[in-house]
Amino acid sequence: MLVTLKELLDQAKIEKKAVGAFNGTTLESIRGIIQAAEELNCPVILQHAQSHDDMIDLEEIGPVMLYYAKRAKVPVALHLDHGSSFERCVQALRLGFTSVMYDASSKSFEENVEETAEIVKIAHAVGASVEAELGHIFTSEVVQGEGTSSDSTDDYEDLNDIYTDPRAAKEFVEKTGVDCLAVAFGTTHGVYLTEPKLDLPRVARISDAANVPLVMHGGSGVSDADYRIAIENGICKVNYYTYMNTAGGKASKEYWKDEETPLFYDSMSLAATEAIKEDVKRAIQVFQKL
Ligand SMILES: [Zn+2]
Repeated sequence: MLVTLKELLDQAKIEKKAVGAFNGTTLESIRGIIQAAEELNCPVILQHAQSHDDMIDLEEIGPVMLYYAKRAKVPVALHLDHGSSFERCVQALRLGFTSVMYDASSKSFEENVEETAEIVKIAHAVGASVEAELGHIFTSEVVQGEGTSSDSTDDYEDLNDIYTDPRAAKEFVEKTGVDCLAVAFGTTHGVYLTEPKLDLPRVARISDAANVPLVMHGGSGVSDADYRIAIENGICKVNYYTYMNTAGGKASKEYWKDEETPLFYDSMSLAATEAIKEDVKRAIQVFQKL
């Protein structure tokens, strides 16, 4: 059943749990995510990141995501991840998404406030929720032929410059009316190249000041112990993608390894779906304290 992000996260905040947010870029991942949530009887967030448009465009995958979200036996919020323009957010809302993230975190505080408030106004008018981001969340990338590259704590002299400031978060939430806020405290999008060093007390300070559900991006590779503290401190939504996706990749590789197996692509698709489902289940169990 389709619900808004706000409904899910306000409840999660009360229960001190987090709802997993997973990117559905393929039919295998969408089915794996929904099946995992149904088997555990837990709510889930199905999302599409603008950066995945190269793989599949929102116009193409959005209606598929909506189909699975609507017929799911558990509450599902359909969310646009990292929308970078007003037009992109409106496009998602028109497709039936119940939530959008508007990411102007690379702009000045004032511009971020002004533009996010505009998105909040239009999203709330159609009953949808808004996530915004304040601070700098690291990103690691696979660079073709050169392994991976990432920015990290070593690249910055003063982490206070890039991590979310609790007082700024309070002001941002008050001025924009956002329903939840993605915060920077040391997590990385993609693969962690070194052990993550998270500023978890900062999460509690931001939560106390801003008083909205907080969002963790870059969930793959964080230890279960760190997850538990982060969730206790106010994280109510965890974006988790990389490990789920590589679980599908590993299962596909395994499938091809056995030369006796008839090489049917649809059988491999089912093997990948199953592996994605199991990885998502493991993540949901941690986030929901099962
Ligand atoms: Zn993100």
